[in-house]
Amino acid sequence: MNRFIKIEEVFKILKSIKSVFVHIRSSLKLILMVIISAILIIGIISVFYKPTYAVTLNGEFIGYTNDKNELQKRINEQMKGIETENIAFVDIQVLPEYSLCFVKRDSVDSTEEIFEKVKNSGTTYYKYYAIMLKDEEKYYVSTKEEAESIIDTLKEKNSNNIKDISYTLIYDTAEKEFTEQDTIVTALYEKKPTYTYSASSSYTIASAKIELGIDLIKPVQSGYTITSRFGSRSSGMHTGLDIAAPNGTPIYAAASGTVVASGWSNTGYGYYIIISHGNGVQTLYGHCSALYVTEGQYVTQGEHIAAVGTTGNSTGYHLHLEIRINGTRVNPQYYLY
Ligand SMILES: [Zn+2]
Repeated sequence: MNRFIKIEEVFKILKSIKSVFVHIRSSLKLILMVIISAILIIGIISVFYKPTYAVTLNGEFIGYTNDKNELQKRINEQMKGIETENIAFVDIQVLPEYSLCFVKRDSVDSTEEIFEKVKNSGTTYYKYYAIMLKDEEKYYVSTKEEAESIIDTLKEKNSNNIKDISYTLIYDTAEKEFTEQDTIVTALYEKKPTYTYSASSSYTIASAKIELGIDLIKPVQSGYTITSRFGSRSSGMHTGLDIAAPNGTPIYAAASGTVVASGWSNTGYGYYIIISHGNGVQTLYGHCSALYVTEGQYVTQGEHIAAVGTTGNSTGYHLHLEIRINGTRVNPQYYLY
């Protein structure tokens, strides 16, 4: 081994080191050139183009979106349903596909249209509450709270048809028009008929004619004798009009209405019928020999309801006819005979 290195050798080594440096420098230059030109190209492209997502549905191009995540989020929400819009869910069979691409800067973002197209490609199921009368859907409301509130209000108002009113949750592809709570309550509310069943001895007597608001017909045909008129007697108060007629003579309903009593009276009327004509007006037919209608039955004016008899506190065949307004007896002869 040499004890020294020749000077030429040193130069040789130095030269080769230099050439390596030159080589590195030129490589660096090249890399730098590549980077700069890449930046330039991207710069030029990004002046005219932008990265965006092309959206396809069923293989068909439906638009570009700059915000894929937001769009997909909305679609997912739609599929889950939106409480405030009464959309239960949207049955979307095919989901859109996204592919990243460069489009010209002035290309329109059509996220909204894409959303509508995807939504319309599915079936929308709406959710709402139907207010039912018997088995019929009468009105629609948006929330369960509204439906319950309507039922509660009708209960508080003691609506006569409360047993027939309910609500039910409905899912349907058809959108329904909603009705205001107050409107529904007003439309469904049914006043309870004011029945006065009592044939009791406590009663009030009207001293003057009260308008009935309905026209009455004679329950037994004219030509029969009036044997006792309305008013005070030595025996007490006569609360009706007595019309004598042969046993079995037909008794007709003085006006249409609902039979609220039909049976035996313990207070002297014998077999009797009370018909309620609405607005608190009732007619009573006493001392009958036969009854042809039953409680709860609706009868029309002139319907054959009973036969003349002499049952109860009676001394001969006659009809005892009473007219009551909200429980107050009025003189039948203000209206008939
Ligand atoms: Zn009488």
